[in-house]
Amino acid sequence: MAPLNTATTLALRRSGDRVAARCMNPDCSNQCRFSGSKGRPARFCSDLCRRIFARNRERILADLATIDSAWDDPEIATGRSNELRTARARSVWMLDRYGGA
Ligand SMILES: [Zn+2]
Repeated sequence: MAPLNTATTLALRRSGDRVAARCMNPDCSNQCRFSGSKGRPARFCSDLCRRIFARNRERILADLATIDSAWDDPEIATGRSNELRTARARSVWMLDRYGGA
């Protein structure tokens, strides 16, 4: 067996350090365990969390599209530009918790 260089040895050691991580649903504090190298690793603690994540992500993306299209209406864009900017920034901030754009 060929010897490993230092970087590879450290990477292998670190990869074994963590076998659990928080569920990807930002509203859930459950842990997901790494189940091995076969199959898709669990990102969610349950199917319910997976569905909540997908639903919220779609809702945020739809809100962003609605906010962005509001800029096309001069009356809305002129009178409510600060509100639109704040709502957009908040939606982008939330989207980061749901996998980003
Ligand atoms: Zn969960």
